[in-house]
Amino acid sequence: MPPGGRGMGGPMGGKFLTEEEKANQPKITPELLKRVFSYLKPYTKQLVLVILCIIVSSFFTILPSIITGKIVDEGLLKKDLNALLLYIGLSLLVTLIASLIGVAEHYINTWIAQHITYDMRNQMYSHLQQMSQRFFTTNNQGDIITRMTSDIDGVKTIITSTFSSILSNSITLIIALVAMFQKNWILALVGIVIVPLFTIPTRKAGKKRWSLTNESQQVNDEVNGILNETLSVSGQLLVKLFGKEKYEYDRYEKANKRMIGLNIKESMAGRWFIVVLTTFTSVGPMLIYLAGGIIMMKYDPNLSIGDITVLVALLGRIYMPVNSLLNIQVDWIRSMALFTRIFNYFDIPVEIKNADNAITPETVVGDVVFEHVEFSYEKPKTILKDITFTLNAGKSIAIVGPSGSGKSTIVNLIPRLYDVDSGSVTFDGVDVRNLDLKFLRNQVGVVSQETYLFNGTIRDNLLYAKPDATEEEMVEALKKANIYDFICRQEKGIDTEVGNRGLKLSGGEKQRISIARIILKDPTIFIFDEATSALDSISEKKIQDAIDPIIKSKTSILIAHRLSTILAADEILVVKDGMIAERGSHKELLAREGVYRELYETQFSKALLEEDGVTELEQYIWGSQPADEPIDE
Ligand code: ADP
Repeated sequence: MPPGGRGMGGPMGGKFLTEEEKANQPKITPELLKRVFSYLKPYTKQLVLVILCIIVSSFFTILPSIITGKIVDEGLLKKDLNALLLYIGLSLLVTLIASLIGVAEHYINTWIAQHITYDMRNQMYSHLQQMSQRFFTTNNQGDIITRMTSDIDGVKTIITSTFSSILSNSITLIIALVAMFQKNWILALVGIVIVPLFTIPTRKAGKKRWSLTNESQQVNDEVNGILNETLSVSGQLLVKLFGKEKYEYDRYEKANKRMIGLNIKESMAGRWFIVVLTTFTSVGPMLIYLAGGIIMMKYDPNLSIGDITVLVALLGRIYMPVNSLLNIQVDWIRSMALFTRIFNYFDIPVEIKNADNAITPETVVGDVVFEHVEFSYEKPKTILKDITFTLNAGKSIAIVGPSGSGKSTIVNLIPRLYDVDSGSVTFDGVDVRNLDLKFLRNQVGVVSQETYLFNGTIRDNLLYAKPDATEEEMVEALKKANIYDFICRQEKGIDTEVGNRGLKLSGGEKQRISIARIILKDPTIFIFDEATSALDSISEKKIQDAIDPIIKSKTSILIAHRLSTILAADEILVVKDGMIAERGSHKELLAREGVYRELYETQFSKALLEEDGVTELEQYIWGSQPADEPIDE
């Protein structure tokens, strides 16, 4: 939460930390402060200018109160019209100048704040882009976005509001106090004595209001939660399909009702107190009038009516800064907590980075070797154990195995989405950890089950892989990916919008566009990670036809659950529980009657029956009928 957001003082003038904030108070160390101020450093000149503006405008804000004394003494009491006009004019002029300087101050302040957040956002974005896949899978996406948006926005508020409020309030307070004591120290003391009497109860009443605000915030979160859940595309679908409209409406209505009750209570909290307080506030000036009158009449005839008026006016000027400064501690802690949160993110080490002497080979062959690879996402649960295999350039390997056995994990290690715990993955004889990361990732093209298309046109998505691709190259890639006919049928052709994440397209169409994208990228190694699962058999066949020539001509790895895909590969690795349980050709593996055979009987043959040209393939594999499997329509 940005400082100054929830818990703003308002008329009750109280800011308080939530229990959570109290529990998570940041340690304010010199290092932290140094780091915070390092962001201000590039803008030192502007900062000095802001401070000057604040000093001058604070002074000019106080000045009219002092001029009031002259208006009374020189103008009114001496019945001097010229002097009266002069001082009134002067007072108005000073107020105008103070406001103008205020505008300049606000401009420079906003400028600095915007530039600092600009720097921070860029720095954060580039830092986040270096984060590993592990970071994105373990961290909540909402949290990451919050760091980028509202937290960094909070910094803006700190600079434009917290920092400048500390400065201007302190300066105003000091100037007002000095002026008061200079005029008459006894009256100054009399006036100041009541300030605590006024501020302490204010804070008490503020606290009650704060707890109500907190409560209503919770209900508000609840309401937002319901909205988020039920008004999203998939949420609404669920509500509709389960006929839960009435149930959700009731839930929403109940929370909504609680919220209005709390809002009314919150808005009324302390209103009576304000009435008492307003009356009380006028006690201060009365005390000064009383004491001033007594002093003037009995002890010191030199004390002028103007002086008394000035003191009353100045007293009115110190309530607000005192109140604000009393709340500053809360703002300060919140600001530091915010910076700490942001810095914690900056301090997450970059897990996968270029080695110091990273190699960029001049020639590329495309051999991949896994040697005794061990890997875990989170220790101590080992996911891959002793994975050893060789993929020679131009060849293809199919990886099969039960779901969760570690197939995707194996391929993730090739473009270094993760690094091995022990053992090695080499590309053309060089450990991938020693290769230039950009080079390595350029060599690998992955088509996964969850295709991701960016919002934009089909063309935009293709150009993402190869920014300088010509129209012919794109058409060729689309043809190879078996999607060109579909694109020709679209009114806008290749300039058809794919919608948010490609939602305007079917799964199969998206998949084929992503294959076209990979064909354009033209990597050394193609990886198809269950590219055809979760699709209907017609889409699948089209994808299969697109993938087949690639498998036959390029170095490729396929994670597949369809027999026809597996059959196209040169070698089959059967993975079970993170280990290679069997390897060999289809025939060899079937003969072994092990995991593969079992998989065949439960998965592949069924898939096979769904495909076109079943008998031909069956006969090719078996020379007879496959295992008894019901045919799913
Ligand atoms: P497969 O591709 O064979 O279905 P995966 O390689 O996706 O299997 O997953 C292997 C195991 O690793 C599973 O137990 C899965 O729960 C776990 N796993 C996969 N991804 C992650 C991740 N990002 N963090 C933690 N565990 C993961």
